[in-house]
Amino acid sequence: MCKDLNGFIKELSSIYDRDSMNTYISLYISRSSEQLRFVDRREKTCKLLLTGEELKNFLDTMDDIRDFLVKNHEKNLAVFASRKHNFFKYIFLPVEVKNLLVVDSSPYIRLLARLHDEWESFIILLMSSNYAKIFSVTFGKIRHTKNFSADIINKHKKGGWSQARFQRKRKGSIHAFYLQIRDALQKGDIYMGEKIILAGPGTAKNQFKDILPQKIKSNIVDIIDISIDEEKKLLEESIPLISQLEERKSYETVQQLKREILRDGLAVYGIRDTLHAVKNGQVELLIIEKDYKLRGYLCENCQIVETEEIYRCRYCGKKMSEVDVVEEILEFAERTDAEVEFTDAEEISKLGHIGAILRYK
Ligand SMILES: [Zn+2]
Repeated sequence: MCKDLNGFIKELSSIYDRDSMNTYISLYISRSSEQLRFVDRREKTCKLLLTGEELKNFLDTMDDIRDFLVKNHEKNLAVFASRKHNFFKYIFLPVEVKNLLVVDSSPYIRLLARLHDEWESFIILLMSSNYAKIFSVTFGKIRHTKNFSADIINKHKKGGWSQARFQRKRKGSIHAFYLQIRDALQKGDIYMGEKIILAGPGTAKNQFKDILPQKIKSNIVDIIDISIDEEKKLLEESIPLISQLEERKSYETVQQLKREILRDGLAVYGIRDTLHAVKNGQVELLIIEKDYKLRGYLCENCQIVETEEIYRCRYCGKKMSEVDVVEEILEFAERTDAEVEFTDAEEISKLGHIGAILRYK
């Protein structure tokens, strides 16, 4: 499975067919006996509605997808493909997803973005002054990634060294051990900027925290005092902790939006203003009502989205494609590095189902 879900979503969000052709197929599927019937049914429907080049590409792309489904037996997965664009990307998902087959001028990323919001990846670093273990947690599942250990001389002096020399040497080797872990985190192959839960006995974890660069330090969300051999207990406590944090963050985001709107500050709400702001790259944090969709029309060439029924672009004259405006706003947000939060808070529905905290106004 791809660990960097965020990077994957960003990559997909940057892709679209300039001619507004329905050339990308996005398939989300959780396998069961229903699965093939679902794909058959959707394929039949889409075939009826497409013509010419779009139809040919659809059939070719479906062939590629079916080949892939025969060769890969993962239960939950998502595929994004277009033969015309020589494009084929997939991701295996460790949780069930709603079956969905979308034909559009760009990959449909909303379900992935929701999964990313609900199942934030994080790491747990369990450490003492001579031993450390890193666990990555993705979609609530734990994967042990790396062990570190160091030969640190015993706390109590022995042999002919002076007390001072002994302490210096001991401190030096502990520090070297911390640096080794820090460097491993900074290298980027086991750690990619996720939240961190720091745990372990005694003062080692706090000493380690002090030598971290601010960028990593600010991702530490909790520090847990626990013995090195209570690994199981630590892992059991950590997973609910992160989902509570996510719930709190979602709540606080909506509160922040309300505050900004009340004081006429850095916020917008409602489809029209949010769309305008996100296209300008002003959005810092996009807040979307979980299941809200809105039909609209998009010119991929000009990247114009209209909420009223228009079939030809008023700027370039090309064909507009029918889209979910919320999905388009989400794609603009991902392309401009905005954060995305999904919520069922009643306030967001009152505010027009969507809103955003802005970087500037
Ligand atoms: Zn246009």
